[in-house]
Amino acid sequence: MSRLAQQQIDHLSAIMDERWSREFNEIRSLVAGLGEERQRIALGERAADTSDEALLETLSAIDEALIRQNLQDVRDIAAARGRIKAGTYGECIDCGSDIRYERLLAYPTAKRCIDCQREHEHRKARAEGRAD
Ligand SMILES: [Zn+2]
Repeated sequence: MSRLAQQQIDHLSAIMDERWSREFNEIRSLVAGLGEERQRIALGERAADTSDEALLETLSAIDEALIRQNLQDVRDIAAARGRIKAGTYGECIDCGSDIRYERLLAYPTAKRCIDCQREHEHRKARAEGRAD
């Protein structure tokens, strides 16, 4: 059980809402700048003024390098919202301990405590055969 106060969760949630809007503004303007052909491929029959969720679903199917990072960010936010709903937000998914509020303030979509995150990145770097 996460020990975050409701007020802290609300605050972090507001930060994520703001980031969500910003990411989608960016995604929409990037998609708008793709040029007609790529835009058609990216959006299919869907209009660009569709809802955020529908847009995310549509764009998830494509592999557009330009917006990949934005998509990853909004997916992370969607996942964090899911954890808030489930009551597991603020708990490390690896060791189950509380993620420090200071870390969440800097990184509201964090899934892991700082120790597990370091461990995770270390393992990932190794698996990819590099040591950065
Ligand atoms: Zn942990």
